[in-house]
Amino acid sequence: MNSARHDHRGHHHADMISVEDAYSRILGAFQILESEERGLLKSQGQVMAQDIFSPFDIPMLSNSAMDGYAIRYRDVQSASSSCPVILKVTETVAAGYMPKGTVVKGTAIRIMTGAPVPEGCDTIIPFEETDEEERKTYGKGLNEIGIKKAQTINMHIRPRGEDIPKYSKVLVKGTTLTPSYIGILASLGFKSVKVIRRPRVAIIATGDELISPGRQLKEGKIFDSNSYTIGAAVERYGGIPKIIGIAKDNMEHLRKKLLRGLDSDLIVTCAGVSKGDYDMVKDVLAEMGEVNFWSIRMRPAKPLAWGILKGGRRGGSTPHIGLPGNPVSALVAFEEFVRPAILKMLGRKKLSKPTILAELEAPIYNYDGRRVYARVNVTLVQGKYYAKPTGPQGSNILTSMARANGLAICPEDRSFLDKGQEVVVKMLEWNEEGKLD
Ligand code: AMP
Ligand code: MG
Repeated sequence: MNSARHDHRGHHHADMISVEDAYSRILGAFQILESEERGLLKSQGQVMAQDIFSPFDIPMLSNSAMDGYAIRYRDVQSASSSCPVILKVTETVAAGYMPKGTVVKGTAIRIMTGAPVPEGCDTIIPFEETDEEERKTYGKGLNEIGIKKAQTINMHIRPRGEDIPKYSKVLVKGTTLTPSYIGILASLGFKSVKVIRRPRVAIIATGDELISPGRQLKEGKIFDSNSYTIGAAVERYGGIPKIIGIAKDNMEHLRKKLLRGLDSDLIVTCAGVSKGDYDMVKDVLAEMGEVNFWSIRMRPAKPLAWGILKGGRRGGSTPHIGLPGNPVSALVAFEEFVRPAILKMLGRKKLSKPTILAELEAPIYNYDGRRVYARVNVTLVQGKYYAKPTGPQGSNILTSMARANGLAICPEDRSFLDKGQEVVVKMLEWNEEGKLD
């Protein structure tokens, strides 16, 4: 086999386009979607479509950071545990209530965490630094309190506007909503927010051999797993999957299923794009719009279809990505082309998974000049990453994908990467910001 020019089936490399080329042609067809108003709890992972300015200070009132006594610093400056300063307690103020009085010379107001700081007070003395415990134990009552430690002025007071000053820009358009941002919006009183809407992604499996899980399996048939892997992946990255089901390997049936996907922002089909049976798919797609069939210089996931189908919500056209049928190929192609398209529609800026450098624990072979994506498990040992292939790399072996947390990349121009060499790994189980989801 002439490995530099042909793959094992003898296909010419001239027929194959690069991963980058396919990526830019596909991604070029997608734009950020319109905005929608979403309830706060439903907005997680969506991108802000507006700036948010704070209508008030947070906290709105200076309040206590401790359970303790609101006092005047100059009254207790000399306090020590051997010689406590005794103050008259005028009231207790709890969180959610306003103090009735003010702190004047020689007095204290008992105050709970979060309660507004009364006028006249410049320092909070926590319970632990008073004789409150002893007074309670000896039944002395709390009409007076002994301060045992002077603290420093302003101690344990959360000043008004400390977290968010009034009129400041708290959320910038383009920010992805995380639980803490959702909490900030809630504390500003918002109950819904304007975000970029989630793309609807129709998913169609194709093949006479497929049966839906839950149905009776027949001889020679297999359960459709791709609808589920791709459906779950769409959901995970912020799309709304619409599982259309299985199209049989005949034109009428495929046409019918594709028509049902035309109300989506993207149609993803699985299988029927490899040499064996793509003619039928090609004919159906060609009559419905523009279509390209590509061999991409990658392993797995060489065969891919890409086109724009006529009809649909996007000004009369719906993009279509035809993933290969083998389960691992389908997922790898999803990672490379479908996920970035979803993220772009969602308004995300970082479209690719983070990469790391790791030391290979077993060689990766590349015998036909494609870009090889090897399923690996990456571990961090004493500050260094190691990548171990997860077993047989056949594109039908979904368990090896499930066990992997990354894809190690052997470039097109390398015939192998040896054990001990450094390899670039795309971290699948990290989100685009390099964290676990
Ligand atoms: P094809 O691209 O149609 O030649 O399919 C390639 C391989 O993927 C075949 O072994 C198919 O049986 C398998 N395959 C296709 N679609 C699915 C699916 N939805 N679930 C599981 N395996 C599939
Ligand atoms: Mg098939």
